[in-house]
Amino acid sequence: MPIHLLPEEVASQIAAGEVVERPASVVKELIENALDAHARQIVVRVENAGRRAIEVADDGDGIPQSELALAVMRHATSKLQTAEDLFRIATLGFRGEALASIASVSHFSLVSRPAHQSVAARIRVDGGKIGTVEVVGAPVGTLVRVEDLFFNVPARLKFLKRDQTERQQIDALVTRYALAYPQVHFQLYHDGTPIFQTTGNGNQREVLAQLYDVEISRQMLEVEYEDEIVSVSGFTSPVGLTRSNRKEITFFVNGRWVQDTALSTALLQAYHTLLMVGRYPMAILFINLHPEEVDVNVHPTKAEVRFRNPDRVFSAVSRAVRRALMTSNPVPSVVPPSVWQRPLSTPQIDPAWEMSHQAQNLWTTFEQTGETTASPTPENLPQGTQSPLPSGVLPLLRLVGQVAMAYLVAEGPDGLYLIDQHAAHERVLFERFIQKKGEGIPAQTLLEPALVHLSPSQARLLEDKVDTLNRLGFHIEPFGPSTFRVSAIPALLSGADPVQAVRAVVEDFEEDETPLQSEVEARLIARICKRTAVKAGQVLSPEEQRALLRDLEACQSPRTCPHGRPTMIHLSADLLERQFGRKGAR
Ligand code: ADP
Ligand code: MG
Repeated sequence: MPIHLLPEEVASQIAAGEVVERPASVVKELIENALDAHARQIVVRVENAGRRAIEVADDGDGIPQSELALAVMRHATSKLQTAEDLFRIATLGFRGEALASIASVSHFSLVSRPAHQSVAARIRVDGGKIGTVEVVGAPVGTLVRVEDLFFNVPARLKFLKRDQTERQQIDALVTRYALAYPQVHFQLYHDGTPIFQTTGNGNQREVLAQLYDVEISRQMLEVEYEDEIVSVSGFTSPVGLTRSNRKEITFFVNGRWVQDTALSTALLQAYHTLLMVGRYPMAILFINLHPEEVDVNVHPTKAEVRFRNPDRVFSAVSRAVRRALMTSNPVPSVVPPSVWQRPLSTPQIDPAWEMSHQAQNLWTTFEQTGETTASPTPENLPQGTQSPLPSGVLPLLRLVGQVAMAYLVAEGPDGLYLIDQHAAHERVLFERFIQKKGEGIPAQTLLEPALVHLSPSQARLLEDKVDTLNRLGFHIEPFGPSTFRVSAIPALLSGADPVQAVRAVVEDFEEDETPLQSEVEARLIARICKRTAVKAGQVLSPEEQRALLRDLEACQSPRTCPHGRPTMIHLSADLLERQFGRKGAR
């Protein structure tokens, strides 16, 4: 075939493919246009999962009759003049392609009326062929109707998923935009049935309750963070509220919904060791930064962005979320929350303790997450963002004793603590490892090297991990087929059975899909700690009990083991009083 220019229609269909992938992409572009036009009310009507029709009506600025024909042409926009403008974009749209793209693959009509026009005008486009403009009656605002999407690109139709899936995509989109723009009154209908609506009164938590339910909305922690270049706000779930996938993790950057795995990773780092393997938080976070700090023109659907200082942004996200988690890390209670007088999320801290322990070490937790920038201490936190003392830490505890060879009983200023000795020791070992990691973990040479015999597949697993283990203070080397020689173990584990520790690593990794390389080390550590920590059923001497308690107090996240299970149960003095009838029960 000789080289030839593609007919305009073909070219625009190809281009449309980049912007309009499925019904939800149409909804997204139309909602973004309405938001750019300062709409206070947006009504989305979907028929047959968007295959039959999608209609978005708004009460925004409208398009003058004289500009209607332009609006549906490619590269026609009112939002940008020069290429430099791209770096001060304050609108969601700027490419001037959405309407043209949608109109080239559907039966499209747009009715619009700006406030200064007494009547509205309508333009129709059929598979890219622009029709004439007619005057019609309509309220101020814009109504776009998209029928028979992809009627002229049957190949695309075949790629659409089941109706239910397409509907879910649309629902996810509308609800998230509703959360991001709580001051806008959103309504969503499927085949005439109302599915979701918000009041537009600006209350985000109310929208959250619409989106999930009241209980979840109540539990979600508020995120509030700001530094010189970026602010992060929104909601994130407490460690007890998780999902089995990342679908409930949403990011908006400067009001734009973006998909960015690096941002999710930053979020997950904040939960590092607090969640069980395979569980994910729910979060919706709004990141705002100067338009010059972010390149939004990376992808035709504008779903990806590039940051000028990605590390700064990622660490801000981790830090913001971590802080939200630290300020509310309630110890699980053994009674229904209704009998609690204080809200669960504000465990009391002894004021005397608070003075003496002015949180010097709390922020070093962020170093554990592998961040490079200096961690803020309470003194150098930006003004106005200084958060209250994170209450994830423990007050000073007085040991009472051990029960059932499994739990320590201790008294704190605010009641009784029952501590799971195994989980607590796990946490202590884990934090020591992490702390020592930077300086190099000291190894303790064994008087007599131990041999570990493994099955061939186990041996391959261990081979893979030997380098990492050796960095963590082990000294392991191959010693004949499927056999390894352990000549040193981390000094932190002194006294532990070396063979047991190595087997622990192998067996745990056997049960598992391959974790991310970056997680391997932390997970190795968590596993080693689990296997070498004192077990339930082990009698501890009073000295050992006291030492464990002291060590736990020194931990930064003492209330959960590295796998996310609680290390303790707290019976508040208040609860005890109620249970004994010393205080009127409600
Ligand atoms: P972009 O949003 O990138 O500018 P679009 O193709 O989505 O490109 O829209 C083209 C133009 O049409 C916009 O720049 C805007 O001026 C106008 N427009 C589109 N939708 C609306 C709307 N709902 N209300 C007011 N103006 C709109
Ligand atoms: Mg647009």
